Amino acid sequence: MRWTQQLIPTLREVPQEAEIASHQLLLRAGLIRKLAGGLYTFLPLGRRALRKVEQIVREEMDRAGALEILMPAMHPQELWEQTGRFAVLKDVMFKIKDRQERNMVLGPTHEEVATELVAHEVQSYRQLPLNLYQIQTKFRDEIRPRFGLMRAKEFIMKDAYSFDADEAGVERSYRAMYTAYERIFKRCGLRTKAVEADSGAMGGSASHEFMVLADAGEDGLVECDACCYAANLDRAEGLHRGPREFAGAELPPAVVPTPGRRTMAAVAAFFQAPPARLIKTLIYLADQQPVAVLVPGDREVNELKLQRVLQATALVLADDATIARVTGAPVGFAGPVGLPLRIVADEKLQGYRGAITGANQPDAHLINVDLARDARIAAFADLSNALDGDSCPRCAAGRLHARRGIEVGHVFKLGTKYCTALGAGYLDAAGVRQTPIMGCYGIGVTRTLQAVLEQSRDDHGIIWPISIAPCAVEVLPINVQHAPTLQAALALTAALEHAGCDVLLDDRDERPGVKFKDADLLGLPIRVNIGEKSLAKGVVEIKLRHNGSLTAVPPEQAPAAVQACAQELWAAVAP
Ligand code: ATP
Ligand code: MG
Repeated sequence: MRWTQQLIPTLREVPQEAEIASHQLLLRAGLIRKLAGGLYTFLPLGRRALRKVEQIVREEMDRAGALEILMPAMHPQELWEQTGRFAVLKDVMFKIKDRQERNMVLGPTHEEVATELVAHEVQSYRQLPLNLYQIQTKFRDEIRPRFGLMRAKEFIMKDAYSFDADEAGVERSYRAMYTAYERIFKRCGLRTKAVEADSGAMGGSASHEFMVLADAGEDGLVECDACCYAANLDRAEGLHRGPREFAGAELPPAVVPTPGRRTMAAVAAFFQAPPARLIKTLIYLADQQPVAVLVPGDREVNELKLQRVLQATALVLADDATIARVTGAPVGFAGPVGLPLRIVADEKLQGYRGAITGANQPDAHLINVDLARDARIAAFADLSNALDGDSCPRCAAGRLHARRGIEVGHVFKLGTKYCTALGAGYLDAAGVRQTPIMGCYGIGVTRTLQAVLEQSRDDHGIIWPISIAPCAVEVLPINVQHAPTLQAALALTAALEHAGCDVLLDDRDERPGVKFKDADLLGLPIRVNIGEKSLAKGVVEIKLRHNGSLTAVPPEQAPAAVQACAQELWAAVAP
């Protein structure tokens, strides 16, 4: 492959639109271009890399026994209404009408379509287990499309749907997918961490996310430093460490004027108290009913957890007027003592004494609050996010550490929700009609590609794992005007291509500096520099991108030497 016959528009400048390194590299290395927010074109080298990721995914799904299909991107809206998910996902779905005015949607995921298929095609237990997958385009009207391929409006996902006769079967299917995911990410040269996840709108029982640890990640997670516990912040249950009794625990509550101190930080500073000594009181409307929610002053309410505990369909923070009406004070001064509302408290507040809360009066707080003595708490439950430094809920001995992550894959046990809603059933060996149990498994294929770049790069550019690099080798004749140099480059390219290596030959008549810079930016794993000076000494130079090592070999030995390097690089990404 010759550079001059390709479309590789590398950029010197860091494009304004790209905030994170991997997005900048995708643009600068000429792999993608933006059409509009969240919509990208893959240029030839980007497409090559994407194909390799897709192929790894495909091979591992096939290996795990899943069957490849291809479902439509456009679905009748009615199908989504049957499972009740149109109401849940309608804002995220692109909605269109055909010329007969029929309501259609562009699929953000395919549980409904896969289940509809199984409802028609599966009748007997003999047809189970069945795992169907596709590699296909998804559409999501994301609130904030950003970071290039990471959160796009249109992206490629591998989605798989398993159907089993019983719980033991689901467990096997789930394990098989989990293992396949580990193999896929390893083969892509990506280090991932599987974390326990919330099953959220999916409504299933178990779920794991595969995270790439990165500061640019949009997900928060915690991991234990002593055992293997790791969980998404949405779900993690950190155990409280630190005191629950503070000065004044024995005294009765007392009102202290706190003019204008509305925030936790301002109140903590005013009392010179640690934020954990404060009790934060938030007023929510759960299905329109006001409810007070208490968490320690250093923590945030986790609304997913709260919604589950309250069993509320709709949950929103109350507006200022409602807060003033139900607490008798403006925003910032609510507290649990004497509050005529249902109060739920974070379990980390159990045993809190000597705490500081709002006084339900303008510009005043209460000190010496003993929660059990002074307030009527309807229920204690896990309502807050885990924090860095919490004790591990699994082993209790370890501490949790907060990390950022990029979710590249997600596996779920779904239960029977979709099969029941769409009438999928089968006859068991005794001829009794049963409902299959479902699992679903997604990998963001385009997001995975970018996540590799986020993890594998340096100041000069990309460091491609050989398995998904657009090409394994770049041959770089330093001066193409020098005939022997070009000759040697062409000969080496031909020999490597003959041996099955994919090679990019930088045959541009450019200054060496430009070519070297682009080579580092593009970051193909193995590079061979061919120059007049080294040829005069009877050698060419092999340079490995990941560690910068240089080896000089005679031109005739170069093909074998390059292949030996390639073999080592392949071994590093073997599952
Ligand atoms: P997120 O929490 O990041 O919005 P999600 O949990 O909604 O993702 P899933 O429904 O689990 O996503 O989809 C499966 C996979 O598809 C995700 O693990 C992720 O890798 C990928 N993905 C989801 N949304 C996007 C997007 N907008 N752009 C690119 N990839 C995405
Ligand atoms: Mg997910």
